[in-house]
Amino acid sequence: MDLQLNDPSLLQTGLFINGQWLDREITLDVTDPATGKVITSVATASAEDTEQAITAASVAFDSWKMVTAKERAAPLQRWFKLIMENHDDLAKILTAEQGKILAEAKGEIAYGANYIEWFAEEAKRIYGDTIPQPSNDRRLLCIKQPIGVVACITPWNFPNAMLTRKIAPAVAAGCTVVCKTASETPLSALALAELAKRAGIPDGVINMVVGKASIIGPTLTASPTVRKLSFTGSTEVGKILLKECAGTVKKVSMELGGNAPFIIFDDADLDATIDGLLASKYRNSGQTCVCTNRVFVQKSIEKEFSAKLVEAVESRLSIGNGFAEGVTNGPLINKGAVSTVVDLVERSVAQGACILTGGSVSELGENYYQPTILGNVTNDMPIAQEEIFGPVAPLITFETEEEVIDMANDTNVGLAAYFYSRDIGRVWRVSEQLEYGIVGINEGIISNEMAPFGGVKESGMGREGSKYGLDDYLEMKYICMGGLDS
Ligand code: NAP
Repeated sequence: MDLQLNDPSLLQTGLFINGQWLDREITLDVTDPATGKVITSVATASAEDTEQAITAASVAFDSWKMVTAKERAAPLQRWFKLIMENHDDLAKILTAEQGKILAEAKGEIAYGANYIEWFAEEAKRIYGDTIPQPSNDRRLLCIKQPIGVVACITPWNFPNAMLTRKIAPAVAAGCTVVCKTASETPLSALALAELAKRAGIPDGVINMVVGKASIIGPTLTASPTVRKLSFTGSTEVGKILLKECAGTVKKVSMELGGNAPFIIFDDADLDATIDGLLASKYRNSGQTCVCTNRVFVQKSIEKEFSAKLVEAVESRLSIGNGFAEGVTNGPLINKGAVSTVVDLVERSVAQGACILTGGSVSELGENYYQPTILGNVTNDMPIAQEEIFGPVAPLITFETEEEVIDMANDTNVGLAAYFYSRDIGRVWRVSEQLEYGIVGINEGIISNEMAPFGGVKESGMGREGSKYGLDDYLEMKYICMGGLDS
């Protein structure tokens, strides 16, 4: 498949280990979810290849950790610039393998690159502390040091940004990385590796392997050389990895699944709410961890709101190939993802939900699901309790603020939550009571590199982005300097 790239050499297909591109006999086809066509095939890594990548990262760490923060920042800044110079090509690769519309792919490339620029700057601010001494013969201080080799495992829904959100702080902190990208979407990651090489990031600092999770995952988690795992993906896989990491007591960061409530109080600006909900629910066809999963509408405005939402979804959303003009929603990642959505909708309808619009697989093909709204949903239905990961908005009504906070918090996960209200007292009460790591008030899209991203409960641990994002890649060392009495 010809992607008509300005620079075709960005379409890399090898393993990237110690700065070298390596071909392998066993390959994996990468398909375009919009057409089902094979884009290309990529080399897959064996356990030995993964070990080789870990060794390369370990050797590189010995010298990279000695490089000053200012010197580490320079190639990261060049990497950022190269990504922005190749913005269009990277977006085309992303749309081809992931399916999201080209405008969203461009947005993701810029969003992902911003983390690199941010952490290149932040590395220069890895401060320690001096601590008041308990007696005058000693002085106490605290320094921060890079943790070592980091394994990064990432999902397919943001094949560029989920990687840069890990690699940038790790490398800026002085760590080196071995990345395992999602099998559906390795090409965006490999293009990033090619640009990292061109930016002059030293060999072995960034390594990328693609292939079977059952081979690469356990090799990374069992390795005592790997001192940290940073994972983004499902809660289910996160729990497996947590158990595996216990064997070598690794530091872990977990960015896992969500079940975002989107609450509309009766004092909300309804037009702004519709805009926010369309963005939060239907972006990437509902396949983001911070996508709205449950829409809570105050009973008194339910009829007016649902009529406006149906009108907006039917008139403003259009599904199709992410490369086509005017399309707002691409396909889902694969047939399995569509089946999950079909099953959730069918089970909800069987329990009393009604379809207000959409509700079936599109005639465009097996990977396309219609933007859908369900009415009459209750918070105990599977569609409200499980992560939908598709373009379906279930509407649930509520009477009081207390009731909706209880319903919103009635889930084992806590990543993002949203609510719309113009009452300043309510704004503070509700934001403080929501058991979520991220709260958007009168906004549907809230993530950026300057703010901390992460969840509570089974949505994970650790934070990505912001001044806190470096902490996950640093160890704190206490130094006591004694014998100072004259
Ligand atoms: P997934 O099935 O958990 O896979 C994520 C990554 O883990 C992929 O690279 C996958 O490899 C790998 N993997 C799967 N099983 C593994 C194992 N046993 N050992 C080691 N690695 C393993 O998740 P997904 O379907 O790609 O992504 C969707 C999920 O990610 C959703 O739950 C979403 O909420 C979550 N997510 C969270 C955030 C956040 O920041 N909190 C951001 C984005 C997505 P293969 O591709 O080879 O199977």
